[in-house]
Amino acid sequence: MSVARILASKGKTIHTIAPHRTLLEAARSLGEKRIGALVVTGADGQVLGILSERDIVRALVAGVGALDDAVSKHMTEDVVMCRISTSLHELMEQMTHGRFRHVPVLDGGEQLAGLVSIGDAVKLRLAEMEAESRAMRDYIATA
Ligand code: AMP
Repeated sequence: MSVARILASKGKTIHTIAPHRTLLEAARSLGEKRIGALVVTGADGQVLGILSERDIVRALVAGVGALDDAVSKHMTEDVVMCRISTSLHELMEQMTHGRFRHVPVLDGGEQLAGLVSIGDAVKLRLAEMEAESRAMRDYIATA
């Protein structure tokens, strides 16, 4: 099972924000869209970073004034990405080792094809496990 399967069911929408936008604007966007992270992109769509709700919470430790800071000040620049061909197992390993819950997906080239969250990965893994256990039950019943 690969990341392509997740995108086939959830769609390819990627919510982005420009680096000069403020943390307040980012927080509003996360709240309105009910998501946990925004991919920070430049004028020509290149990935400059990722900003998650955790970055905003961390910034707020310095005071609510941080909400006026630019997104670029608090985003993570070194973004780990996967490909549509990445397996579910590899994706879950990336998230576990990197301790993050969001991974932008690249198509065969360098274009963004979507974003997967840990919730998407767990949902697909559960469906996989249910299918495996159903197949095992059917096998036992007919053996
Ligand atoms: P998350 O668990 O996704 O809310 O993110 C936790 C931390 O990891 C935050 O500082 C994010 O900016 C960062 N982060 C989230 N996703 C990625 C990613 N794909 N690559 C690198 N850092 C990330």
